[in-house]
Amino acid sequence: MIDTFDGAKIRSLNRSKKRRSVPTPSIPRALDRGVEWVGYEEARGLVLSSVKTRQPESVPLAEALGRTLARDIKAHENIPPFTKATMDGYAVRAEDIRAARKDAAVELEVLEDLPAGRVSRKSVGRGQAVRIMTGAPLPKGADAVVMVEDTEKSGSRVKVRRTVRPADNTGQAGEDLKKGELVLEQGAVIGPAETGLLAAAGLARVPVVRRPKLAVIATGDEIVEPGERKSAGQIRNSNGPALLAMALRAGADAKYLGIARDRSSSLRAKLARAKGADILVLSGGVSVGDYDLVRDELRTAGVKPVFWQVRIKPGKPVFFGRRGGQLVFGLPGNPTSAMVTFLLFVQPAIERLLGRKKPGPKGGRAVLAEDVVLKPGRTQFLRGVLDAEGPVLTVAPYPDQKSGVLRSMARSRVLIVVPADVSRLEKGRDVEILYIDGA
Ligand code: AMP
Ligand code: MG
Repeated sequence: MIDTFDGAKIRSLNRSKKRRSVPTPSIPRALDRGVEWVGYEEARGLVLSSVKTRQPESVPLAEALGRTLARDIKAHENIPPFTKATMDGYAVRAEDIRAARKDAAVELEVLEDLPAGRVSRKSVGRGQAVRIMTGAPLPKGADAVVMVEDTEKSGSRVKVRRTVRPADNTGQAGEDLKKGELVLEQGAVIGPAETGLLAAAGLARVPVVRRPKLAVIATGDEIVEPGERKSAGQIRNSNGPALLAMALRAGADAKYLGIARDRSSSLRAKLARAKGADILVLSGGVSVGDYDLVRDELRTAGVKPVFWQVRIKPGKPVFFGRRGGQLVFGLPGNPTSAMVTFLLFVQPAIERLLGRKKPGPKGGRAVLAEDVVLKPGRTQFLRGVLDAEGPVLTVAPYPDQKSGVLRSMARSRVLIVVPADVSRLEKGRDVEILYIDGA
């Protein structure tokens, strides 16, 4: 018995004698193979249109950081709920002190002292004032606060040496948000400021979108986990940890299921464990090599291909399919290709599942710092080094763009998008960029 992704126990397919049958010839070829050699935008559209509706859950406010709001939140009352003093001083009627000057004070009767948190039962009438502290509700009758620095107290009276206009030194009820106004919109990502707003609106629990469950499987006979013994011809598994990190960063409830070897039995065992996941991500084995079994095994496991091979560089062999409601991505094994295709296709799927209004990756524009010459034909995503020190944001391609060079991802902050029909970009023009790790 082995653990499945969602915790249930199933019989290991590894040890099972029973063989799953391959798709029958009655399945139309187009459906069987999906679309091949598809353009970037079309591939992205196919992924996004495959995403099912999100599911809400409620979490304590303190645990809502980074989560996505499941519905619009409206203010049930004014924020702040009452008009208050924003300065220590005296609550007055502005018209009573119209004649106040530095050398000609107006004297008012002080009715009481009002600290923050207390409500005055008194009403400020003509010639009267209440000593008020920042945060205390403005008493009835008063319409402004005169700062303590502009006054001089003597006994139960105060001399005012400066005029104020109505509403001066006060925060008006509902000036942050009025009752019924939108506090935050469905799809908003909850950061520190959003947390504060939700708290101000009185929410102890927050309706958020359930994090999609995502499973990561690395494949390859040559792959060894960091910390394990490595023999000749083997390399470290960098995709497993990198893709897991990307999934977590994107907001998924991600689990790493380990390495599948380039054998049917090994792949099947891993695929069985991934059954409960909303998204399954595999790295390696999707190309056209003799041991690239992933696509065949996915099909055998009931995954319907949607597309395979996208006109992009890096990442051409990327596969996308569906198994019921599960989205299945077969990413290329080259470390840079794996990360770029995750960013281009998996991350938007996660964000759409989370109900984000604009699924990423987050983009922008920057000025190219040097000439770029390329072979046209595929949309290219060059690793780019940003320079934000000067008056304009500039970007230069990282010197080594080979897809096995993972260093290029760590040293770059963005991808420079070069459309498929472009062979030359001149220094000084502005280009589209995509942020590799958020903003
Ligand atoms: P593949 O897509 O399986 O043909 O792999 C392409 C290249 O990526 C090969 O050089 C693999 O050794 C390498 N590769 C595959 N999987 C990983 C991984 N998990 N970590 C690091 N490199 C990998
Ligand atoms: Mg491989």
